[in-house]
Formats: sequence, C-alpha cells, structure tokens
Amino acid sequence: MSFVVHNTLTRRKEPFQPLEPGVVRMYNCGPTVYGRAHIGNFRAYIFADTLRRWLEVKGYEVRQVMNITDVGHLLDDADEGEDKVEAQAKKEGRDPWEISRHWTRLFMEDIQKLGIQPALVYPKASEHIPEMVEMIEGLLAKGCAYQSGEDVYFEVARFPRYGRLSGNTVEELDAGARIEVREEKRHPADFALWKSDARHLMKWKTRFGEHGFPGWHIECSAMARKHLGDRIDIHTGGEDNVFPHHECEIAQTECFTGAPFSTYWMHTKFLQVDGGKMSKRLGNCHSIDDVVAKGYEARVLRFCLLRGQYRTPLNFTWAIMDESKSVLENLDDLAARLRRAMTGHGAAASAESGLEDVEQCQAEFEAAMDDDLNTPRAIAALMGLRSAVLAERLGVSAAAAANQFLVHVADKALGCIRVEEESLDAEVERAIAARQDARKRQDFQESDRIRDALLEKGIVLEDTPKGVVWRRK
Ligand SMILES: [Zn+2]
Repeated sequence: MSFVVHNTLTRRKEPFQPLEPGVVRMYNCGPTVYGRAHIGNFRAYIFADTLRRWLEVKGYEVRQVMNITDVGHLLDDADEGEDKVEAQAKKEGRDPWEISRHWTRLFMEDIQKLGIQPALVYPKASEHIPEMVEMIEGLLAKGCAYQSGEDVYFEVARFPRYGRLSGNTVEELDAGARIEVREEKRHPADFALWKSDARHLMKWKTRFGEHGFPGWHIECSAMARKHLGDRIDIHTGGEDNVFPHHECEIAQTECFTGAPFSTYWMHTKFLQVDGGKMSKRLGNCHSIDDVVAKGYEARVLRFCLLRGQYRTPLNFTWAIMDESKSVLENLDDLAARLRRAMTGHGAAASAESGLEDVEQCQAEFEAAMDDDLNTPRAIAALMGLRSAVLAERLGVSAAAAANQFLVHVADKALGCIRVEEESLDAEVERAIAARQDARKRQDFQESDRIRDALLEKGIVLEDTPKGVVWRRK
C-alpha cells in the first residue's frame, strides 16, 4: 500500500514518491543549542525519527540530516534581536562556543535516551560558512539579493512564490505588522542572508565585510544542499518553522538552484502542557531529566508523544504519562507473552490457530502508519493482538508470526516496546522450574519463597491450566 503524507506546501495528503527510487533525502530542522531541549521540542524530533523508521520499514534507504544551529538564530525569528547563543553566553558569563558545545552534547544524549536513531550527519551552522557565502554570492549575482552596507538581504519581490508555504502574501507582510521596518531594507519582508555586527563574538570576515555572521534561514538552505543536494524529498520542522524560516529557505534555495527545493514539507503541531502553552514562567518546559526524576523511563515519554498523531494537538500531563506507562507495559507484556507462546506456553493447541488475528492486526497497523503516520491508530491495532494472546487464541506458528511483526515492523517503527529477549527470561524460567519442583515435593514454604523473591524483582507468576506463566508487575 502506498504511504500517504500531509504536505504543508499543498495543504493535502499526497502519496509519497521520492525523486530517486528507493532513496529518501530528508532534512530535519534541528535545535538551536543555547538551552536544554524540552518535551515540546522532542515531539518534532520523535516525529522525524518515526517517519524515518517507517520509511525504512517500507524498504527505503533514508539519508537523514539534522542541523545544529550554533550561530545566527536571533531572539526574534525575523532578523531582529540578539543571537540566542550569544545572549545565553552573556547571561552565564561564558564563551558562546562553549555554550553551543555544551548544549549540543546534552541534546545528543537526550535524543539517544529517547531511542532516536542517529542521523547520517548533524551539520553545525558555524562549520558551513563557505557554503552559505557561496549561495549568498549566487543570489547576489542573480539579482535576488542586495547588499546594504555590510548586510545582505534577500529581496522577496524577486520570488513570486514567496508565501506559498505559509499562506502569507507579500502585500500583507507589507504592513510590517510582524516585522519591524528597517530603512536598509527595500521591503519590510526582505530578510537577512548575512548580517554585520562588530560586537558579535562568533563572526567571519568575508567579501561583504569584516565582522559578519549568517542569517538563520540561509544556514539550513546551505547545509541541506551540501549534504543532500539541490533537491530533497522531505523537509520537517515544528509548526513554528513554517514562517518565516521554511518560507525563506524555499525562496533562497529555489532562487539559487532554479529547481523545487523539497517535494514534501511536514510539520508537527505544538505540544501543550496541562492544557496550555509551555513557558519558562510556568515551569512546565520539562526536560528528559524532569521526566526521569519523576520515575519514568525516557521511552515512556517517547510512547506518550506517539499516542497523538503528529498533526493533531496533543496535551501533556503527568496523569497522561502514568496512563502511557501502563499502556506501554501492556505492550511489553504482549511481547513477553508472544515469546512464551512461541515455545508453547499459553498457546492454542493448533499451531496455525489465530493466524488471521495476526494478519488483521498487521494490516491495521500498516494501514494506520501509511495514513500520514497515524500512530494512535497503529497502537490501537496492537491492543487487538494482545487480546488474542491473552485469550490464548494464538498457536505456536501464529505467535512466531506475531513476534516477527512486533519486532521487525511495529517496534521498528515505534521504537519503545521492550521486544528483545532478555537474560532475565532464562533466570525467571529457572526459578519457575525450581518452584514447580518444590511444589511436587509439597515444600510450599520453599515454593512461596521463590514466588515472593520473583515478586520483589517485579515478576508476577500466574498458575494457569496450561502451566505457570509470568509477567512484569
Ligand atoms: Zn532550519
């Protein structure tokens, strides 16, 4: 079945078709490294990772690039205010390079904890200045940009499609309601490709002037082009990236290359916390550390965020985290029961029994993921499989097929279920055998001791007509 994705550019769902058969070139707007990433940021990164995982399940080779913005992202997304990294450096009395290195390291640790697979490359803006200058010079040569003092601006009037992604029009922007009118700009919507500021600490000498640094938008255009080529298949980001960031990226890249930049633009909706906006003032910009300090594994956060489809509003509360934890544990339990059913424990008498249940679950799961990554519907499909296992409707072959699907399709995509065979299994099986021996000897004191010892490890034993089965508490 074909994979359908929602394209912000066309405002509809479209069948996914890469430029080169079998290969997907994907660019994800990454973090600006001046502070700890919070759960809202992770919604976008977990989405990008799940998208990549699903494309890989479908057999594509995914070339994924996520940038690290370490310079040029100003406090106001539209060219104004202090550089975010430098402002933080000043606040802490530290070097901006040290600030960006520090937060980049923590970001990498955080995404690893969330089961986010490493991208092909994490390019840093500060390490791609020549590529940016090359594009800016090309835009100047084509007459799409102009120099004003030591600054260089992109002239939006030279790109008639400006506004197509966000729905903004140049006329509306003309009012300058959002963007402060600067006299060195020909039009208030013109945006900076290169800015000069002698006080800026991270700066480069170029033909435009002595003390310059890049605009945030040109960074992504240049890094995407360097690592993926002039044209890419998918560009992702949070909904706040649509304007001005992605609108400006499209204008620059397409003026420079003369070709469409990205075929699909995919954006995640904001995450709400406790029913409202996240804000530092409310103290609800939770980090991974906050999640772990509350006693949750990081994978529970990943699962919690996947329980909402990426384009629908999602609310985060600790109560929802609790609920997510118990649903995820049910899926862990499904995996454990399938492994045991494969060996005949808790399995139906006929090996083939329940194969239709497995096929139906797999079809529902895949149809949901193929429908613009409808993760909540995909998760619901797995619950159907759990009912079949709990009712012991699956035979040995069906359990093996279900396990294969759970490990290589479902969890390959979701990335948070405990599907791996663990050494604990063998240990628990040995203890169960010892307890059975004790019971045969009518040594109930010993059999209770073994049961209690397992319970302390979080393992619950259940005596069933088909023998003893265990699950995590
Ligand atoms: Zn970007």
